[in-house]
Amino acid sequence: MLHEKLSAIYDNVLRRNPGEIEFHQAVREVLESIGPVLGKHPEYAESKIIERICEPERQIIFRVPWTDDKGEVHINRGFRVEFNSALGPYKGGLRFHPSVYLGIVKFLGFEQIFKNSLTGLPIGGGKGGSDFDPKGRSDGEVMRFCQSFMTELYRHIGEYTDVPAGDTGVGGREIGYLFGQYKRITNRYESGVITGKGLVYGGAQVRTEATGYGCSFFVQEMLKARGTSFDGKRVVVSGSGNVAIYTIEKVEQLGGVVVACSDSSGYVLDEKGIDLDLLKQIKQVERARLDVYAQRRPHATFVPGRSVWEVPGEVAMPSATQNEITGHDAATMVANGLIAVGEGANMPTTPEGIKVFQEAGIAYGPGKAANAGGVATSALEMQQNASRDSWTFEFSEQRLQEIMRDIHDRCLATADEYGMPGNYVAGANIDGFRRVADAMLALGLI
Ligand code: GLU
Repeated sequence: MLHEKLSAIYDNVLRRNPGEIEFHQAVREVLESIGPVLGKHPEYAESKIIERICEPERQIIFRVPWTDDKGEVHINRGFRVEFNSALGPYKGGLRFHPSVYLGIVKFLGFEQIFKNSLTGLPIGGGKGGSDFDPKGRSDGEVMRFCQSFMTELYRHIGEYTDVPAGDTGVGGREIGYLFGQYKRITNRYESGVITGKGLVYGGAQVRTEATGYGCSFFVQEMLKARGTSFDGKRVVVSGSGNVAIYTIEKVEQLGGVVVACSDSSGYVLDEKGIDLDLLKQIKQVERARLDVYAQRRPHATFVPGRSVWEVPGEVAMPSATQNEITGHDAATMVANGLIAVGEGANMPTTPEGIKVFQEAGIAYGPGKAANAGGVATSALEMQQNASRDSWTFEFSEQRLQEIMRDIHDRCLATADEYGMPGNYVAGANIDGFRRVADAMLALGLI
């Protein structure tokens, strides 16, 4: 239920952003949490902080022409939404996926504002991407696409302006091509202009692993708060990209048993625990489908075309994409003995699913808190670039773990302060919102 004032703001968002359903969903979820804050802080309403937060500071849409290996010309659409820079330069990834349109980029950018605020580090919120589909494209095609994308994007970004990184479909290879083109056009080795770089050219230790590791640390804290741990727990992960792979790696190190993961073709069930070396070989080296996993590990089963959420587990770590857990999935998971959910993906649970988890008393860690380790480590990469330094793996991982613990504790403390103990959604939204709102107040009407 929305507070009356917030309901008018939400209606206005619907009217001004027609058809952008994912953006509407992300806004609504935040507005549903922050009603009680307005009671305590009338100054936020007086200076229309919420209305301003819901309107991106700048939205850039551009043409991206490129040629495939046969010489055929393709045209894609590129986006960068510079949402909020109250806390620092716009910061957030680029997503290359055929589903990308303005509404997806705005939902992700909006989430990013609060996520970045939660890290406590000086980064604003932004997001970008393209409807380009990298699947089945050669290295040369991906490189030409990235070069064309950066040929427009370069004029909008900068170490003190806007700092992109990866997201779905944008990993180390793409970041390299993007940075290479930026460097070539500007004739500046501006390392801090993009994060997720390779270690040989200004990247940071643990950045590749950070989202998955961070989400595992967050779940470890949620379990600890309930007097338990990962030890011996059955864990189900969705996805098999960068976030899923490093979630599986860390959960296994922390004593959990990951029995399933998925891709767009189906899921694999491996009761002995997912063999990570094999998964990395198939997904990172061969870029093949998951059925290959079951061919090479005969006791495992590949289940085509079905949702991984039918697999019973005590911990669920959705690491694929938005709205992958429906209300029906959530009810099945609860009936199958679920105790905790940590979202490695952005907004993977539908509003109906969230309701089911919360009513069942599940420890539910929303993406903007649970997956903040990726962007937090990007901020550490920016810090290392600015000081022309590089930290060890051990030190970087320790910093990540401290940041995740701190986010977890602040979410719980804020939820307590507002009389909603154990509600990580309210804690994350309120804590993330307050910091941005206070900075916006301090900076005047901008
Ligand atoms: N795409 C990631 C996210 O959703 C990381 C963004 C970044 O490192 O800037 O938070």
